Amino acid sequence: MLVEILEPVATRTGTLQPGRLVEMSEGAIRRLDGKVRVVPTAEPIDSNLERLSAEFGDDPEWLKWKVHPLAVNHWAANMDIAEIRRKGSLPHGYVHEVECQSCGPVLLASGMPERVPACVWCMNRAAGLPIPRLEHHEERKL
Ligand SMILES: [Zn+2]
Repeated sequence: MLVEILEPVATRTGTLQPGRLVEMSEGAIRRLDGKVRVVPTAEPIDSNLERLSAEFGDDPEWLKWKVHPLAVNHWAANMDIAEIRRKGSLPHGYVHEVECQSCGPVLLASGMPERVPACVWCMNRAAGLPIPRLEHHEERKL
């Protein structure tokens, strides 16, 4: 089954980071209860396939997953989330307060450590785009 990694998962060959898509057996999913999420079954959405192909072209990771309808819809959802972030808005579920060494206090999806060297908002900071802050941190806006 196709699962999304929610919390870092140690494997024999390394650590799977949150956000990765992985094929996993039902037994493994049960053992990792709460650390992975089964990507719900859905029909492939042609418009998703088109815009992802336009975005990722020959990216080997994309070529590997483009034949998998569930992965296509998952990638499309991630692309939508990235667009929300580019606008400086908080995607759904970004409620976990984390201290980014570069951005300061930011809100991220759950499953992240309390302190990180870099975060998804670093790209906004580098591009001069807004970073949403908790109200009590407004005065620390960089
Ligand atoms: Zn950051």
